[in-house]
Amino acid sequence: MLDLAHFSTGREVKSLWIKDPLAILADGADRGVVVRNGIIAELVPRGGMPTTPDVAIFEAAQHVILPGLINTHHHFYQTLTRAVAGASDCELFAWLKTLYPIWARLTPDALESGVTTAMASLMLSGCTTTTDHHYVFPPGLENAIDVEVAVARQLGMRVVLTRGSMNRSQRDGGLPPDSVVQDEDTILADCQRLVDTYHQRGPDAMIQIAFAPCSPFTVTASLMKNTAALAEKLDVRLHTHLAETADETRYCGEVYGCRPLDYIEQCGWLSSRVWVAHGVHFLPAEMARLARARVAVTHCPCSNQQLAAGHCPVCDLEAAGVRVGLGVDGSASNEKSNLIEEAYGAWLVQRARYGAGRVSYRDALRWATRGSAACIGREHELGDIAVNKAADLALFKLDELRFAGYGDALAAVVQGSAHRADRVMIAGRWAVEEGFIPGLDLPRLIARQNEMGRRLQGG
Ligand SMILES: [Zn+2]
Repeated sequence: MLDLAHFSTGREVKSLWIKDPLAILADGADRGVVVRNGIIAELVPRGGMPTTPDVAIFEAAQHVILPGLINTHHHFYQTLTRAVAGASDCELFAWLKTLYPIWARLTPDALESGVTTAMASLMLSGCTTTTDHHYVFPPGLENAIDVEVAVARQLGMRVVLTRGSMNRSQRDGGLPPDSVVQDEDTILADCQRLVDTYHQRGPDAMIQIAFAPCSPFTVTASLMKNTAALAEKLDVRLHTHLAETADETRYCGEVYGCRPLDYIEQCGWLSSRVWVAHGVHFLPAEMARLARARVAVTHCPCSNQQLAAGHCPVCDLEAAGVRVGLGVDGSASNEKSNLIEEAYGAWLVQRARYGAGRVSYRDALRWATRGSAACIGREHELGDIAVNKAADLALFKLDELRFAGYGDALAAVVQGSAHRADRVMIAGRWAVEEGFIPGLDLPRLIARQNEMGRRLQGG
């Protein structure tokens, strides 16, 4: 097991004035923010002073402060199968068929390493809240989500862990082999157990559970329907892949006789508790239906480009009234797990599609913060630097060669493709300090992850 015995979840501060930032993505906070008891207690305006008594001070003159970034789609285990020979030049279906047999060999030790690698990468990129979509449960890995919860607690990261599932194997006309699917009763019982055991409610929740049948080509309609019913009963959110590729649209036509959105509507999934990953291939009328149902969409620009899936029509979705967030997606289709770089990717892709006048760096940051908060149903407490919101912050320095000569400090973070936060605060605790996660032995993690990846890929 990874040795995190001496791991600390960051220093707790009672009241801290993060003072005089170089720039901040908030109105009326030119002199910074005061953080107290895990929330933002005060914005300090130009010429003002904090009214909170006895504040400690963190001098932020070299820092650009953003709301903590929120990642709304990932598959942590895929960090163990980055750049796998034979998968690199495939599109989605062939890519999945190449990787399923490798993923079928996942063990709890390998998963723990992969999850730690993914979460650490995200935190170091300025991410404070992440989701994960874990849907591979081979024999021996029945407690995969429990492994993820343990790592999240050790790292002090805010998470929405989605209990993924696959029950339609090749035998039943699906894509995955029999070795990675489970039966419906087992899946639903585990969903219930995970909510009973771990799901926190309320604005300060650190661990949440959601349900996530994998996709139309890996899950039966029965499991989709019964998962939606259970989510309704337990009041948790629902997630799945949808409208990612033209192959998926064809599959739905052949197997279900309708388009992907029609299919999930028949399964009871056009609901405000749903967010879907990708949304590349929605038609205009479908966007209006998504907006009416208040279904949110996660844009995964790097993965969509790597798998040549197409480009998510983000501006059209937003014009129709759909909330859009960002996701890095799994590390087999986007190796990096770096959310600030994903914002850069979204900025580039969407400008190429819609023009420079319609997409600014501020849009990219909005997708990575407020838009993502909407995806996970937490826009009232996360995604903004405002009084009473969570003290989840990402602080970037502009002291690297890539920024030298910058003008607008906020724009420079996105346009200069920042890749590493200097400091990250989660629920009022410093989770990243001077570019490192306190207590995490990074060289040791990398060595272990390389060993686990080699073993998994080698069989
Ligand atoms: Zn995915």
